[in-house]
Amino acid sequence: MNLNGANTLKLKEIEEEIKVCSKCLLHKTRKFPVYGEGNADAKIMLIGLGPGYHENLQGKPFVGAAGKFLDELLELTGLRRKEVYITNIMKCYLPDNKVTEEEIEACTPYLDGQMVVIKPRVILTLGNVATSYIFQKFGLKLQSMGKIHGKIFQVGNLLLQAKIIPMYHPAAALYNPRMKDTLRSDWENLKNKI
Ligand code: URA
Repeated sequence: MNLNGANTLKLKEIEEEIKVCSKCLLHKTRKFPVYGEGNADAKIMLIGLGPGYHENLQGKPFVGAAGKFLDELLELTGLRRKEVYITNIMKCYLPDNKVTEEEIEACTPYLDGQMVVIKPRVILTLGNVATSYIFQKFGLKLQSMGKIHGKIFQVGNLLLQAKIIPMYHPAAALYNPRMKDTLRSDWENLKNKI
């Protein structure tokens, strides 16, 4: 079996656990869990916050308005969805787009498992929640997104060596044209960093 097949199977095992997860109350409002999508051997992993309305109905990450903008940003960087792996901190629908510490604690073992399987060389954290979780996990000092967006933080432990690059969440730009330009420029600059 090739490497791709082995990782796909390992990711499937995690997905089977998520499918029946009831560790927090969010399982009550999920239609489909959103595990993540893309290349099981991806060198680049994107981590967002969690499924919104459209993602819950389709079981896929970033398929709503923020997802459309994310596609544009990926294109600016010369990346295609098929090459990367896109997932979230939370795997079940967030009706108010908000999450508690307890919910993050309950859900992130799935993300941790996905990172260990895929072993990405670059992790793009989209938005504050994903950035704060990953920074804490790797013992990095968290600063405001205004200071750290687009910068590279090299981390490593026994399980994973990766460049962490915090990015603004694509949804932050939806109603703010200036933010759109900042995001576009950050993603274009990624070309030279990854
Ligand atoms: N926002 C996210 O953070 N993740 C999604 O999958 C969709 C919107």
